[in-house]
Amino acid sequence: MMALGVDLGGTKIEAQVFADDWHLHERRRVATPASYPALVHALVDLVGWADGLADGPVSVGIGAAGMINPRNGRVLAANLAAHDKPLPADLVAALGRPVRYLNDSHALALSEAVFGAGQPFASVFALVLGTGVGGGHVRDGRLQTGFSGTGGEVGHLPAPAHLVQAHGLPVVDCACGRRGCIETLISGAGLARMAHAMTGETLSAPQIIAARGDDPRMAQLWQVWCALTADLVQTLMRTLDPDCIVLGGGLSDIPVVVDDLTRAVGQAGFAGFDSPVILRAAGGAASGARGAAYAGWQVADG
Ligand SMILES: [Zn+2]
Repeated sequence: MMALGVDLGGTKIEAQVFADDWHLHERRRVATPASYPALVHALVDLVGWADGLADGPVSVGIGAAGMINPRNGRVLAANLAAHDKPLPADLVAALGRPVRYLNDSHALALSEAVFGAGQPFASVFALVLGTGVGGGHVRDGRLQTGFSGTGGEVGHLPAPAHLVQAHGLPVVDCACGRRGCIETLISGAGLARMAHAMTGETLSAPQIIAARGDDPRMAQLWQVWCALTADLVQTLMRTLDPDCIVLGGGLSDIPVVVDDLTRAVGQAGFAGFDSPVILRAAGGAASGARGAAYAGWQVADG
């Protein structure tokens, strides 16, 4: 059976069709419609396109930002016309086949664990560091989805109190409704927020990264970011204890991030205990669609 994977973003929809051996057969990119009926229509249309290529029904997986409300099956994603709409159920009704709808960080985790940097490891946690901070845990090729569906949303763990206190970091309301989440400090916007708190200057994340070699204040800020993120990795070790951590998201593109974070994780841990290997995601921007396709195929395959 051929597999369709869709990466549903706020501005574009990337659709990829995979052959039985998981080689990319065909891809297509369309603009994300702004109205809900048009969005459903566009997705149904893409499935029809994939069915045509496969000469039969494909399995369907869709990865998108946000979550599904487990009580009513409605999408929680502020950047999509599907927000507060039962998109998964509407697609199942329109297509007459199972549809796997999953969080985009979960899709990335599955892709990296099965096809990417985490391939040699049984237990892989993908940590997505970008506009938001999220992740997903895959064990033996299966996404660990959990009871509430919020597993992997590690950006909404609390920031470590000792580092907040030591560096006078701001404790602010998070978009999730909680306060003091680590995402408010280590996301791209969080790094800028810390820069403002520590130096009084308004700088973007790329400016801070670029300046860290010349400006000692920016170097210190980067060290604080590494210490906070290392603390999050330590939390993952104390709970899920993965064999490997794969970094995704925009901040993972910073050349020194793997080395600096690996060093910081070693310093933050229990003395004498090894840390999991930290690697950069191998699949790039295409990882999401491949992971969604694999998740959809797993459902269709039973
Ligand atoms: Zn939060």
